[in-house]
Amino acid sequence: MPGGYHERILRVNLTDGTFKIQPLPKEWIKDYIGGDGFGARLLFEEVRAGTDPLSSSNKLILGTGPITGTLWPMSGRTVFISKAPLTGIWGESHVGGFLGAELKFAGYDMLVVEGKSERPVFIDIHDSDLQIRDAGDLWGLTTNEATEAIKKKNHDPDYQVAAIGPAGERLVRFSSLIINHARAAGRTGMGAVLGSKNVKAIAVRGHGAVEVHDREAFTELAKKAHSRVRENPQAREMGKWGTWVLTAVKQEIGELPTLNHQTGVFEGWEKLSGDYIRPRFTVTDRACFGCSLGCKKMNYIPDGPFSGTLEEGPEYEGLMAFGSSLGIDDYATTLKANQICNRYGMDIISAGATIGFAIESYVKGAIGVDDTGGVELAWGDNEQTIKLLEMIGKRDGFGDLLAEGSRIAAERLGRGTEKFAIHVKGMEVSGQDGRTHRSIGLGHATAARGADHLRSLVVVDQLGYEDVAAKRWGADKLPEIIDPYTEKYKATAVVESENAYCIRDTLIVCWYSVSWPPIFWMEDFAEMLPLATGEKHFSKVENLTRIAERQVTLKRIFNAREGIGKADDNLPDRFTKEPMPEGPGKGQVVDLEPMLRDYYTLRGWDLETGLPTDATIKRLDLGWARDFS
Ligand code: SF4
Repeated sequence: MPGGYHERILRVNLTDGTFKIQPLPKEWIKDYIGGDGFGARLLFEEVRAGTDPLSSSNKLILGTGPITGTLWPMSGRTVFISKAPLTGIWGESHVGGFLGAELKFAGYDMLVVEGKSERPVFIDIHDSDLQIRDAGDLWGLTTNEATEAIKKKNHDPDYQVAAIGPAGERLVRFSSLIINHARAAGRTGMGAVLGSKNVKAIAVRGHGAVEVHDREAFTELAKKAHSRVRENPQAREMGKWGTWVLTAVKQEIGELPTLNHQTGVFEGWEKLSGDYIRPRFTVTDRACFGCSLGCKKMNYIPDGPFSGTLEEGPEYEGLMAFGSSLGIDDYATTLKANQICNRYGMDIISAGATIGFAIESYVKGAIGVDDTGGVELAWGDNEQTIKLLEMIGKRDGFGDLLAEGSRIAAERLGRGTEKFAIHVKGMEVSGQDGRTHRSIGLGHATAARGADHLRSLVVVDQLGYEDVAAKRWGADKLPEIIDPYTEKYKATAVVESENAYCIRDTLIVCWYSVSWPPIFWMEDFAEMLPLATGEKHFSKVENLTRIAERQVTLKRIFNAREGIGKADDNLPDRFTKEPMPEGPGKGQVVDLEPMLRDYYTLRGWDLETGLPTDATIKRLDLGWARDFS
């Protein structure tokens, strides 16, 4: 058996109430490594085209990788994969904490949740003791209440619990799973998949271990890897400030999404910056499994309308989504919004963006109080914003429409509101802007799950990354690669980083050791993976690159079966037709077409359709995928 794997997929069928343990197909290891890759293969084969994401035919996959739960730094992450309720296409959501490691300690590489229970239940995995248990008393509870109740029922505070809240129960399309109170598998609506199956939570406790192939050599390399993380100056900054450092960076380059991405400059940015927040509100730092950085922050609001709020976060994306993007220069509001999103189980980015869509539609006169049920909307109205967020979580009044996400809400409202729905393929755009940052424009447009800021290099053309860019792509290309306002070479940066991030997401390790800052890259994985697994195949960067290309292309074919093609690799008009009105990027718009041409060429996808060519399918050994409709 290769090291790092248990070679066991645990399946729970909710319809007939059974568990089954299936051997992990050996060829999957060589072809996909783990995590995202295994999930892509399984979802492609088992969830057919046209499946309703909220039907019993959809499946929810919880994936780990070969080094999950080992000594390698930041290796406790896991991924939830399903057909996404928010977008109707490929869905995935990665999350930190300890859940992934716990599943490995229980003896499983993956969990697949299938079918639908007739009554509310929770899935209890305690090593080989597997139960589907009644959750009638948990239904309706917030995620933190349900988590505590399950730990209490089991007399074990060390259970890892992934719970949905009232939003997931009510099938809010951007509902999330919250792991042990605060870590969110936020994007694409994985919580609604679980809610549609009448599952309140997945609870996991394991007492085993993960055996690697060459324990001594792997341990030595892991120790060095920890030192590299601890000694990296940017990683140390990340440990102190978390992603809050981004507020000042984004403001400086004119890319802090403000008033629903209408501009990238926010007057009140300082009150949303790490310098302001940490000394006033941070109580303590927190870390995920195997991490010495501890980028997560627990914060407390001592006074004001949200006084007494004690919660982890929010990260930069939450500061943007409930701060600058809604015209709110108040950290307490963003923490309160984060707490509601955590407790109801909602993605903070999509929730904030959908409220921003509603406010802009209202302020510009496209909708009125007849549409909102009497709710008056305005930029910067923090108390009304919090009320509206709770209405979404409960699907109450106007919140019921907004719970569908901005794309569907705009389709139903009509009257020109579509131009205020800032999404790609149905997923709301995160805290970046292609006008001031071309590589993210291309990344948002082409990523499999919609406007995704996590699947390719979002920072190469930003401040401070010149040395990295020169090393990766050569000094001759450097001036254009780091120029945020040119389309040239951006596809090169996006494709190469997307490949490296694919391997990151198959292992699975934290974003902040591979992407920002990029401490580990393909060469490091090629050195480490053979020690962990014994698979010599992984020792060559070209083999890892091919695995990544296969994975990106398989997700593309998954989406193509759902009707996605080149026309969907697009950005909202806001980024391609409305020039940035102010700041360093004043006057900029994105010209997507040349970047798409370069991207398709590098990926081996057809320039007209955006779909993989026959030669690419053959080169990546994906011919089998043709047999699945
Ligand atoms: S850097 Fe932050 S998100 Fe990553 S593993 Fe550490 S604490 Fe978790």
